Amino acid sequence: MSQPSVAIIGGGVAGLVCANRLQQLGISQSTVFDTGKHGPGGRCSSRVVNIGGKLHVFDHSAQYFTVSDSRFAKIVSYLHRKGAVKQWKGKIGKLSKGSFEEDKNLSQAFVGRTGMHDIPRSLAENINVRVNTWVGNVSWEDSIKKWKVDKYGMFDYLVIAHNGKCADRLMASAGTPQIHTLTQVRFSDRLNVRDKRMHLCSIWALLVSFPRSLELKYEGAHVEDEDISWLANNTAKLSVSDLATGSQVECWTVFSTRQFGTRHKCSQENIPPNVEREVTEKLLAGVQRVTGVAQLPPPAYTRVQLWGAALPLNVLKTREECVFDGLHNVGICGDWLTSPCVQGAAVSGLALAEKIHLHHVGTNKSSTSLVPEFQAADGEVIGAFPVDSSIQFQPQSL
Ligand SMILES: Cc1cc2nc3c(=O)[nH]c(=O)nc-3n(C[C@H](O)[C@H](O)[C@H](O)COP(=O)(O)OP(=O)(O)OC[C@H]3O[C@@H](n4cnc5c(N)ncnc54)[C@H](O)[C@@H]3O)c2cc1C
Repeated sequence: MSQPSVAIIGGGVAGLVCANRLQQLGISQSTVFDTGKHGPGGRCSSRVVNIGGKLHVFDHSAQYFTVSDSRFAKIVSYLHRKGAVKQWKGKIGKLSKGSFEEDKNLSQAFVGRTGMHDIPRSLAENINVRVNTWVGNVSWEDSIKKWKVDKYGMFDYLVIAHNGKCADRLMASAGTPQIHTLTQVRFSDRLNVRDKRMHLCSIWALLVSFPRSLELKYEGAHVEDEDISWLANNTAKLSVSDLATGSQVECWTVFSTRQFGTRHKCSQENIPPNVEREVTEKLLAGVQRVTGVAQLPPPAYTRVQLWGAALPLNVLKTREECVFDGLHNVGICGDWLTSPCVQGAAVSGLALAEKIHLHHVGTNKSSTSLVPEFQAADGEVIGAFPVDSSIQFQPQSL
């Protein structure tokens, strides 16, 4: 049987895991297309910044991940064996009204060894990834049962491994209206259950480097505050203080709440200077307020970034791990189908690869439900990551 070709649009964790699993199942002719200029990864990536002649890493989207699914545990074991991930041993917990409480359930939090970008880098090693590539047009050619993917050719299967405005636009005239009903989005910080679309919230990230340590007893904190939802000390988390010889520089990532994201919404590609200034000032003031540090040292570096389509507030009601339309050879995977986190994205990519394989070998030609019904996702947008302390990590292949 000849191998089918698969176009995967989106090189975040979901798309990369999907490509790896397809390869493992004997389908190696897949191409991952991703917009990332420096590499794939999407919302699991890092920013490397030169501050005072030294390179510093900031995790500017996913901060850490947890594991409660045995299939994901295998992937984590594989990444661990390759040296791409490590356990975050520092204190993580909850910061409320100036008081920190360690979360003992987070004893198994994982991070990329030198930053979260190690995860997509490692997953991309043996697959065909086209970075810095934006796919603007796809169409189903019914007469030959193939997908035309922009100027990149014809493919037997199409995988949509991204969400938000891009996926909505891409599928609007693709020739599969049922799939399009699932990719339509609404941007909001509040779930309106009568609106049957996927709801995505926006979050601001502040990357800030201080010339000396803030001397806080924790490395990561989910924060109860109207403006700030999370802060983390990248320098401590990634254990790089010894590399920045003799320097006391501390690099922090700070996330706004989703309500702050809505209040200060603008174009994420083109942030007006006055908004940049206002958001930086408010988030820095928030850091001082929530940490209780009497006087923050003047930052050596700041940068703000808006994640316009940061996290989904709802997930598919059917809780199917992926969507697959067996009549049009198209599937969707991503964190917004079951669980908005790194594990949710990975498991969704795995599930879709398996569906495509079964469809190709003829064992299962059926589709999943294509009904666009959503329900609220569990817990807070940042921090409701599933944990199962019974999961054991053994190095083994993916
Ligand atoms: C601020 C923030 C903090 C988070 N913190 C955590 C955390 O601590 N722990 C955790 O587990 N999860 C966290 N998450 C969630 C986690 O990052 C996501 O669940 C996961 O990374 C999603 O992966 P994905 O593959 O589904 O999507 P994405 O990572 O969004 O990947 C989609 C990719 O597709 C690309 N793309 C889009 N359109 C096109 C196109 N037309 N052509 C080509 N490429 C395209 C995008 O550029 C992107 O690279 C956080 C998310 C955010 C935003």
